[in-house]
Amino acid sequence: MIDKVKALDSGARNKRVVISYIKKVENFTRDPLLSERKEESLCKYCKYLSDRIGCDVMTEKTCDCCGKKMMFPNSCVDDLCVCCAKRHGHCKHCSQKMD
Ligand SMILES: [Zn+2]
Ligand SMILES: [Zn+2]
Repeated sequence: MIDKVKALDSGARNKRVVISYIKKVENFTRDPLLSERKEESLCKYCKYLSDRIGCDVMTEKTCDCCGKKMMFPNSCVDDLCVCCAKRHGHCKHCSQKMD
């Protein structure tokens, strides 16, 4: 037997997920937070598409470029410190060239 209530629930949930994907792709395309994004040194992908979710545990990581120690409130860490990201024009999170 198909559980009709569950099927409806799933349908509604899937629709919300699709809408949130569409919104993300729209933002990725339009780049509405351009200045904020540049300020944060994040590429369009990391700003709009990636969920950047990690476990809630303080994580220490060194900058891939200058070796400076960085602390993060969760396990979603950046590749570069903001200084290096800005100086070289790369995304601080995934280190791709900024777009
Ligand atoms: Zn650095
Ligand atoms: Zn990135």
